[in-house]
Amino acid sequence: MSNNTQEILELYKKSVMPTYAPSIAIASGKGVTVRDADNRAFYDFTSGIGIHNVGHCHPKVVKAIQDQAATLIHASNLFATEPQVNLAAKLVRLSGLGGKVFFANSGAEANEAAIKLARRWGVANGGRYEIITMRGSFHGRTLATVAATGQGWCQDGYDPLPVGFVYADFNDLASVKAAVTDKTVAIMLEPVQGEGGVNPATEEFMRGVRALCDEKNLLMICDEVQSGMGRTGTWFAWQGYGVEPDLFTLAKALAGGVPMGALVSKARYADVFGPSTHASTFGGNPIAAAAALAVIEVIEEENLLDRAKELGELLKAALQAEVDKYDQLLEVRGKGLMLGLAVDGDAKEVVDALQAQGLLTLTAGPHVVRFLPPLVLKEDDLEDAIDMISDAFDCAFGGEEEG
Ligand SMILES: *Cc1c(COP(=O)(O)O)cnc(C)c1O
Repeated sequence: MSNNTQEILELYKKSVMPTYAPSIAIASGKGVTVRDADNRAFYDFTSGIGIHNVGHCHPKVVKAIQDQAATLIHASNLFATEPQVNLAAKLVRLSGLGGKVFFANSGAEANEAAIKLARRWGVANGGRYEIITMRGSFHGRTLATVAATGQGWCQDGYDPLPVGFVYADFNDLASVKAAVTDKTVAIMLEPVQGEGGVNPATEEFMRGVRALCDEKNLLMICDEVQSGMGRTGTWFAWQGYGVEPDLFTLAKALAGGVPMGALVSKARYADVFGPSTHASTFGGNPIAAAAALAVIEVIEEENLLDRAKELGELLKAALQAEVDKYDQLLEVRGKGLMLGLAVDGDAKEVVDALQAQGLLTLTAGPHVVRFLPPLVLKEDDLEDAIDMISDAFDCAFGGEEEG
């Protein structure tokens, strides 16, 4: 464990398939900060891609994992375990949907479960199987979730893709209505599109999709893999719209960095899967479930839903001030602490400029810089980060100020 960043990146290039292109090797994390293998500190406004809503290595999460690891690491789903049933009950209660939960190990798997449940129900209810998804969406990297993802760059090279997915325009109800056929069983969407550029759904669109689903007897599926667990200021982003989905999925922040996905249903769809119709060996594993229970406790105790809203407003205002200053910055958008900054140019260059200042951010498509800081962020850390943002933009765009 003593290799420096350069050595680790060389080993990476030699032995890890190049699906990513890291330029930093992370060695440790605490709260909102990570350190690289050369002991350089960064503010982590990626949160490990929306994972660390309660910060890196929160003591409660660490303890829950340590205690569970010393007690029972795995039992398989042939047997019930207490952390899993407690977590399921908790998620059902937080959702208010009165249904049940299926556990998986990732976002793609949670979405795959939602797709399979919708198909299983649809085939039995009128022989329907088509799912309408949105252009610009992102639902994962398995073949079915890549087919569900309405972006060509995810699909290139993987033909033939599973059939049964139809695309409509996000925030355009007429386009969704036009895509409904007598084979349609569900409409699937992210309340705030993440990878597609941090695009929040409008209230009108969410309510319109809900009404359309009611009218045509379709399932409304919300992919909350990125937007869930307090990120946008409510437990699940759909709760900020006053509509209830029939199914929704969780993963990224659910278990504080331990891999876990979940599909949560309304009561009506709670028993569509029966014994042996769907399964996951690791799903709902005791360590992941114990970690998730700790994450939920921390979100409640530290009032992180309100914090996401308050800090989101502060960061949004600071980014808006930069937009007002530079022609190269076009727009800031998002909800809570899920924010995107649209740039006129290459977002990756902006991410690199911010990284040079000590602030880690993400892209969301080619022209959007994405900010997903931990919800445990304190005001003084946010101020430091805002200074880094100002300095980075001053370096990159300075001298061309509009005033
Ligand atoms: C990240 C993401 C996924 C895929 O999750 P994995 O855990 O990488 O499989 C699916 N949907 C959304 C909205 C995501 O942000």
